[in-house]
Amino acid sequence: MRRENARTDSEHRVGRGKLFVLSGPSGAGKGTLRERALKDIHGLVYSISCTTRRPRPGETDGVEYRFISHETFREWIAQGLFLEYAYVHSDMYGTLKADVMRELEAGNNVLLEIDVQGALQVREKIPEAVLVFVDVPSIQELERRLRDRHTETEEALRTRLANAVKELGLKGKYDYVVVNDDLDSACEELRRIIAS
Ligand code: 5GP
Repeated sequence: MRRENARTDSEHRVGRGKLFVLSGPSGAGKGTLRERALKDIHGLVYSISCTTRRPRPGETDGVEYRFISHETFREWIAQGLFLEYAYVHSDMYGTLKADVMRELEAGNNVLLEIDVQGALQVREKIPEAVLVFVDVPSIQELERRLRDRHTETEEALRTRLANAVKELGLKGKYDYVVVNDDLDSACEELRRIIAS
């Protein structure tokens, strides 16, 4: 864990809750870390993102994402409804401002799992947000994990790997870097960051 960019506890508050942003390359294990954190940490809620990508088998609208059309996404951008949004792996992804603010005002801590471009937009708008980058031991390990998932075509996998290299270049902008080598220790590290 790295702390040189970390700020004091009082600076992390918006309303009564704190906002935590989890990013990192696909295949780094953000999803698993997120699920564990949500299960283990009381008062931590997840903000469900909107996306234009199609649901994967087993995904349900309103659970993993709100699956919306490109047209709706563009309208919501024009209406200023997004706290952040980005074009990731050929689709649009975004976080609704109202969802996050409602939870923070209610005193809940909110977790976003979003890409690096989105995380940097959040930092601009809410400087108090705590940014956590989930890193991988190596690019080779990342490729192995992505192949093992069998969720992507070869082309999509190549896009994800190329994006991973770009994302890794920006991890210095994060408050904390958690290397997901061993899942249990990575979960514990994330739990400590959020609970501190
Ligand atoms: P996937 O399609 O595999 O679920 O997600 C692809 C990427 O989109 C992941 O890196 C994920 O963190 C990112 N992502 C998911 N939701 C959002 C969001 O609301 N905003 C941004 N900027 N990225 C997101």
